[in-house]
Amino acid sequence: MASPVISIRLQILPRARALEVRLRLPVGRASHRIRFPAWTPGSYLVRDFARNVTRAQGVVGNGLAQLSKVDKQTWLIEGAADDVPIEAIFQIHCADPSVRGAYVDDRRAFAEGAAILPWVEGWESSPHELELAPVDNFGWCVETSMSSLKVNDWGFGTYREPDYLSLIDHPLVWGELDRLGFRCGDRPHRIVLHRPLEGDGKRLAADVGRVCRTHLGLFHNDAPFQSYAFMLRLAAEGYGGLEHRASSALLATREAMPRPSDKGASAAYRQLLGLFSHEYFHAWNVKAIAPAGLGVDALAAEMHFTHLWVFEGVTAYYDDLALVRSGVIHLDHYLQALAETITRVFRGNGRRQQTLAESSYDAWTRFYKQDANAPNAIVSYYAKGALVALSLDLLLRERSGGATSLDDVMRALWVKHGRTGLPLAEGDFERVAADVADESLEQFFSDYVYGVEDPPLAELLRSHGIELHWRPAHGYGDAGGRADTTPFAVDLGGRIEAAGAGVRVAFVADEGPLAQAGVIPGDEIVAWQGRRPTVAGLELFQRDAAPGDHVELHVVRDGLVQPRTLRLEAAAKTTAWLRPVPQPAVAQQQLQSCWLADTAVT
Ligand SMILES: [Zn+2]
Repeated sequence: MASPVISIRLQILPRARALEVRLRLPVGRASHRIRFPAWTPGSYLVRDFARNVTRAQGVVGNGLAQLSKVDKQTWLIEGAADDVPIEAIFQIHCADPSVRGAYVDDRRAFAEGAAILPWVEGWESSPHELELAPVDNFGWCVETSMSSLKVNDWGFGTYREPDYLSLIDHPLVWGELDRLGFRCGDRPHRIVLHRPLEGDGKRLAADVGRVCRTHLGLFHNDAPFQSYAFMLRLAAEGYGGLEHRASSALLATREAMPRPSDKGASAAYRQLLGLFSHEYFHAWNVKAIAPAGLGVDALAAEMHFTHLWVFEGVTAYYDDLALVRSGVIHLDHYLQALAETITRVFRGNGRRQQTLAESSYDAWTRFYKQDANAPNAIVSYYAKGALVALSLDLLLRERSGGATSLDDVMRALWVKHGRTGLPLAEGDFERVAADVADESLEQFFSDYVYGVEDPPLAELLRSHGIELHWRPAHGYGDAGGRADTTPFAVDLGGRIEAAGAGVRVAFVADEGPLAQAGVIPGDEIVAWQGRRPTVAGLELFQRDAAPGDHVELHVVRDGLVQPRTLRLEAAAKTTAWLRPVPQPAVAQQQLQSCWLADTAVT
């Protein structure tokens, strides 16, 4: 018997800030269990999407029927006879402005599939048809990368996907929309934005097109999609992206868009291009080459795995690398971004406490739920993962004289696990890398992935004609990446931030001067050597003071003023910057040109 089609009708209710989801259920079953995901693939935090359901109602034939709740995200409805239609209706409040939820107002709407679409237990593998109902009187259209069955010029109508997991892997965007189209080979790509279009859309499409061609070229123009859509939302604030199989949802500030008068690429625009690059690379690395165990049932609770760093760290390495390879940014800006990543990892002592594998496993409760102690306790699987990917890439290149690289590892993964759909289990990445390298990489992974050693970045970069330098920070907002002539002379062992008219302690490093003086995060510093401190004043102080000096200060905690004495330490050199070796040897030049060469197929 052919599998029944699960039909779902989606109606936006703009003024109610809600969506109505109406599921037509298969007939002839004693009962149905309808479940919402707890999380969405690509964002490793339990979000409990079912908590946004404000009304759940069953309809059997012409009458109402009860939907009873059996756990936090599951509803049960009794079945009906073969000739009686049965439906479940959910109204969902949509007020999450991120790319990981659903949002509705009278200007626009957005929905991440997992946030609004439940599955019917037992029918996850059935074809799913989604009817997107028109939004009357709003002049909107709708955009999605789903396969259309019968839709009108505005995108409203019926879409069809082969199963539930495919259905929720396409974000939906409603509103007055513009499209910036470009082609990569025979594959159409589009950037979807809300009107009015702000900034230089033509340049954005041209630059993103170059980056996409570089990624495609890495995989010899073989891709897991036939066309691709970037759903970009520009807003007053916010930043983020979520990858899907043939599309991605991106959020950035309006200031990130290039202007027609821009000569170079601003820092915000370079970051935006990096976001496009990151989510696009995920089409291969995590969507096609996917972690083992990611079935529908895995969406009910946390899914722990130790190789999340492969999906996020390796992607974080390739996102900026593709920008310099494609020529949309210059080498100095690439080195700046790379040095910022190095700084992020090396500033925190958390890299000594948590391995990359542990960081991956505990993403749910540690990386996604960071507190003020995070830099002491955890390491980012993005940032350290990117540095391990860089180290592996440069190590393979150095040992093979440029003949073998991480590019080959990614192509091998694509052929073995991407094209075939064979999931990537823990340890598979290491095995494929060792096969490509034709040597054991056990020590490498044991030190840098399963251990807390620092990868030998300085040596590896030097062999590719790049010098790594270290200096102290010069301010609390100093992210590294540049040389500096006015760094701090002393460290307080923490980070200070502005709070009202004064300052507050945002972070306290283990065993640093602040920690030794008993100061904790959240303390307000009301007096610093008898004066009210400011962030700028403390930064000046840290440049002029000497190690060993003592400082008398007063903090307020829980409404009580307390005196403290700090003993200052010499500022640690944990801020990185990079530059090309001034007079590189031929071997260094050759390795560098191979490493940074554009992979686009011309
Ligand atoms: Zn990512």
